[in-house]
Amino acid sequence: MNRRIIKTASGVHTHTRVFAAAIVGLSSASTLAQPPIESFLADAPQSFIPPPLHPSGAQLQTRQLGEGVYALLSGLPVVDNNGFIVGERGVLVIDAHINAEMAGQIQDAVRRVTDKPILYLVNTNYHGDHTFGNYAFPDETLIVAHRNTAEHMRYFEYEKEFVLPAVNDDRSVYSDVELRLPDIAFDEYLRLDLGGRFVELHYFGRGNTTGDTVVFEPQTRTAWTGNLVVGEGTIPPMFEGGVDEYLQTISRFSQTLDVKTIIPGHGAPATADILGRYLRYLNDLRTSVRGAIDDGKTADATIASLPLGAEYLPANDAPQAALIPFLQGLHSLNVQRTYRDLTAR
Ligand SMILES: [Zn+2]
Repeated sequence: MNRRIIKTASGVHTHTRVFAAAIVGLSSASTLAQPPIESFLADAPQSFIPPPLHPSGAQLQTRQLGEGVYALLSGLPVVDNNGFIVGERGVLVIDAHINAEMAGQIQDAVRRVTDKPILYLVNTNYHGDHTFGNYAFPDETLIVAHRNTAEHMRYFEYEKEFVLPAVNDDRSVYSDVELRLPDIAFDEYLRLDLGGRFVELHYFGRGNTTGDTVVFEPQTRTAWTGNLVVGEGTIPPMFEGGVDEYLQTISRFSQTLDVKTIIPGHGAPATADILGRYLRYLNDLRTSVRGAIDDGKTADATIASLPLGAEYLPANDAPQAALIPFLQGLHSLNVQRTYRDLTAR
């Protein structure tokens, strides 16, 4: 991967107002076996169901949001969404999807709109369903990610195992995938120049992972949120961020950006209202788990006594109704995680 690092050094001048960007200095012997984080799903509550991310039958539908701004929506409720933004010089793509076939669908969608080069591909987090398609993009495309995302991507074999239950244990989904790491990492903020328009990358803190990136297109006020906000009718997927961190992150997000449309990494597009819903949920979660701990309840008793509230469940006839069992399991995971965080202090 060093060859790419040398090659990208001349490209940095196109990023204006770079506050903390750096060329990723990852070694070429870069795949590692086991990440230095606890396996937060290893002892997840029984009700937790892995999200159904198998891409079979997923067709990315192009939805234009404004001049040169496109969402790519998977059509299957939880399978990953993507998007792209076209400037005078070239294109920025949001997320790479899970394999070469899906990455090919993204590039086909771009080619139906423009023949300009894909200058940048942003990985919103390190999970395989957002990054395994990286290697199927052209060599000249620069891959950009938060520093923590870039570092976590080195645990390539571990990530293949982590994603496996979400693709029905079907390894063939990504058996051909080769690791391609980011060329550019950023810490807080990065503005990328596509020619005649800028795209902003923001890091607001830990949420679903330690490196969730929000991609913001200021003209249409569209935010791609990866796993940080997973779409209309959902609750926060608290995998690696604790309740206080997630609260702080969403609160910074909503205070910093005036968002009109959210294109989540999974699920249905949303308005900025979903940020208020996430803040309410996280505050409710904290208060109710705190109360259960103060009442002397065990973790299991706390999970059992705090089902997902009706106000956070889709109606039975809503388009998101199929997600109800997943959301209930996710909520149990969030309760468990919060119980541990609050009792560890
Ligand atoms: Zn995801």
